[in-house]
Amino acid sequence: GLCQQARFLISAAKVDQCPPDSGLEVAFAGRSNAGKSSALNTLTHASLARTSKTPGRTQLLNFFSLDEERRLVDLPGYGYAKVPIPLKQHWQHHLEAYLSSRESLAGLILLMDIRHPLTDFDRLMLDWSTAGNMPMHILLTKADKLAFGAAKNALLKVRQEIRKGWGEGVSIQLFSAPKRQGIEEAHAVLSHWLQL
Ligand code: GDP
Repeated sequence: GLCQQARFLISAAKVDQCPPDSGLEVAFAGRSNAGKSSALNTLTHASLARTSKTPGRTQLLNFFSLDEERRLVDLPGYGYAKVPIPLKQHWQHHLEAYLSSRESLAGLILLMDIRHPLTDFDRLMLDWSTAGNMPMHILLTKADKLAFGAAKNALLKVRQEIRKGWGEGVSIQLFSAPKRQGIEEAHAVLSHWLQL
């Protein structure tokens, strides 16, 4: 598939450093340690997301190209609550600018650790995406950390809370990188948004 052609394109610290706003892209967001790098790597069969983790680099967005017209974007999550205020404000300002202005952004994938769903970071992302009518799909990561029944229950519970708080437009699934669980379901969403 096309996701196998993924390669690193560019890092941007600000919106004006992004690649040209043409074609289609899907952005991945998640609180630090939610499993975003693992999911990106699993979904693309590559080690794309290593660059995003270099400490001390205040990158905002890392772009990966799938083809001439299509991109995946890694939005560094930070440990949200623990970040110094100025960095948090910088991050919020530029992220909000990116999310609200980017024409080629077709949808947002939000990653949440199944054991710690709906953090403040997640709620902020849900608020932004629903306010901007941006399609959102959630991966409940590390599903392998729970027994099958418990994971299913967690999925139903979080889905219900999201319906209540943010409406019907947000889809959600279980995901596990080591078990390679949920890959087809996630690929279907990417293909749809990227018009593959
Ligand atoms: P990021 O900070 O969101 O990019 O998170 P990483 O992908 O680096 O993952 C953080 C930690 O969780 C690492 O130790 C991963 O090996 C682990 N991890 C990520 N995804 C999974 C998963 O689906 N299952 C399990 N058991 N561990 C995972």
